[in-house]
Amino acid sequence: MPSPADFATALAAMTDWRQDFHRHPELGFEEHRTAARVAALLRGWGIQVTEGLAGTGVVGTIQGRMQGRLGNRAIALRADMDALAMTEATGLPYASQAPCRMHACGHDGHTAMLLGAAEWLAAHRDRFAGTVHLVFQPAEESLGGARVMAEEGLFERFPVDAIYGLHNLPGLPLGTIAVPKGPVLASSDTWEVTFTGIGTHGAKPHLGRDATLAAAAFILGLQAIAAREVDPLGTAVVSVGHMAAGDAASPNVIPHSVFLRGTARALEEPVRTHLETRIAEIAQAVALQHRVQAAPRYIRRLGPTVNHAAQAAVMVAAATGTALAVRDDHPPITAGEDFSEFLARIPGAYAWLGTGEPAHPEGFHHNVHFDFPDAALPHGAAFWCSLVERELA
Ligand SMILES: [Zn+2]
Ligand SMILES: [Zn+2]
Repeated sequence: MPSPADFATALAAMTDWRQDFHRHPELGFEEHRTAARVAALLRGWGIQVTEGLAGTGVVGTIQGRMQGRLGNRAIALRADMDALAMTEATGLPYASQAPCRMHACGHDGHTAMLLGAAEWLAAHRDRFAGTVHLVFQPAEESLGGARVMAEEGLFERFPVDAIYGLHNLPGLPLGTIAVPKGPVLASSDTWEVTFTGIGTHGAKPHLGRDATLAAAAFILGLQAIAAREVDPLGTAVVSVGHMAAGDAASPNVIPHSVFLRGTARALEEPVRTHLETRIAEIAQAVALQHRVQAAPRYIRRLGPTVNHAAQAAVMVAAATGTALAVRDDHPPITAGEDFSEFLARIPGAYAWLGTGEPAHPEGFHHNVHFDFPDAALPHGAAFWCSLVERELA
């Protein structure tokens, strides 16, 4: 099995790619420069390249030929390429040169690690039998690039037995791979409610129907779902992220409507469906109570990311084979991941790559001080190659 030490010489190149991507971050579906560089590097190693899936997606295909056998199994390894609309504050020499664009989730590192693995696999085709599809995915952050890739025929054009994902995790010790059993990440849905009453003079509430009071009751009622309706050992989060009503210049006007928007998270599909049902019911109930109208809407964005047991076991074995520390008991996280779109279609699993304590005390995901530590690149690349050798032996 390849180990991180086998990537000691590749570290300089991977660091160069990673810092180049970091310097030139691109938002979802706009990863033109990143995708072009990925495609050019893959071609340079003799890897078959398909561009343009979901716009900026790139798939590199490597055929193994162990002892002359081509093998008939195929797997996919996925890296996301997109950045966030944030202004970097790291002050690093390779800090973002684009205004309000930043690699604050480490997808620059994911892309560089998979490139490191690609170069190694292309040079060691004799060590596996079967096909590896390297999936460089656009738009993981909020825009659902995985779904677009799948809908544009990713798995029809590149049939695979399993797909694997890897994401950096600050706080998890450097050199550790954590493979959760079952749920890894939560569903991430958006809900909206408009309460419409009758606007009136702030001094004469009895002449109107106050939508703000209904909104207040609704917000309090929402929290009863997680507190009283979902198993305390289960997970449900409902948060209000936006409220809009009236005008700051008109404190003496009771507004005729209130608009609320928020997020709902769950680790299991039945809990997710319960949230969907109950948010609407509570909106209608408080509307009745306050004699206003409620128009709730629930937008299903991402399902929970849930590891398949067999593929999670493969990831644990691959990490063990590379002499990385392994944890198979990592608790789920209530953030969302569009890797769930892949796992809803084919078997697979998702693991965390430990990147240690962040260099900056605030340097966690989606913070302006975040930076992917290059020391983790050989761990990720070795892990990917070990996974290929294990799956396609
Ligand atoms: Zn992110
Ligand atoms: Zn991310």
